[in-house]
Amino acid sequence: MNLTNLLTSFFSLFYPNLCVICREPLLDGEEFLCLCCFINLPKTNYRHHANNRASDRFSGKIPVEKATSYLYYNKGGAGQKLVMDIKYKGNIYLGKWLGQLMAKELHKDDFFTGIDCLVPVPLHPHKLKKRGFNQAEIIAQGISSVTHIPLETKNLYRSEANVTQTRKNVYERWKNTSGIFRIKDKQMFEGKHVLIIDDVLTTGSTLESCAVSLLETVNIRISLLTIAIT
Ligand SMILES: [Zn+2]
Repeated sequence: MNLTNLLTSFFSLFYPNLCVICREPLLDGEEFLCLCCFINLPKTNYRHHANNRASDRFSGKIPVEKATSYLYYNKGGAGQKLVMDIKYKGNIYLGKWLGQLMAKELHKDDFFTGIDCLVPVPLHPHKLKKRGFNQAEIIAQGISSVTHIPLETKNLYRSEANVTQTRKNVYERWKNTSGIFRIKDKQMFEGKHVLIIDDVLTTGSTLESCAVSLLETVNIRISLLTIAIT
């Protein structure tokens, strides 16, 4: 055992790493989640179905090649706990790890075949400054590290801050997000298949708004991926 491991073990006696979901102390070899919570992750398994609840949310609205979400997001459930730990507790390591975990599974089913570029949903610069990171970008970094698909974070940007969506209905959310994303260079994604990435898919209005802006590009194809779906 080297010094770092020895010190880690020593400190973990007093400050044990806890499972993000059940808050029980983690055992050696467990990372972020205990084995029980890991096995019981509320996976959607949408990847086995081309038409699923994620893609249904966009049907008739925008042309999407494929769309999927990895986990169910229920109040107080594992999906919510994971997303909140990343977003509000700043657990960026968990975000990357979860992105990698999702990517490894989807990779087996050729979900990423033909995808040229990963585009995380941008945060407004003010919010980015306040939070210090964009959770969608952190997740996308994890995906990129597994798939080696390049990340593009500058070309799509948020033009104005929208107020929090939490207490808004479907129409208000749509109105709140329509037209807030812009593209700097409309040629960059020409002829490309772009995968837009976000943390949670709720009404789909944010992803839809991103897609509408990206669709101004000639011959672009768009797919969507989120960690969780409500
Ligand atoms: Zn647990």
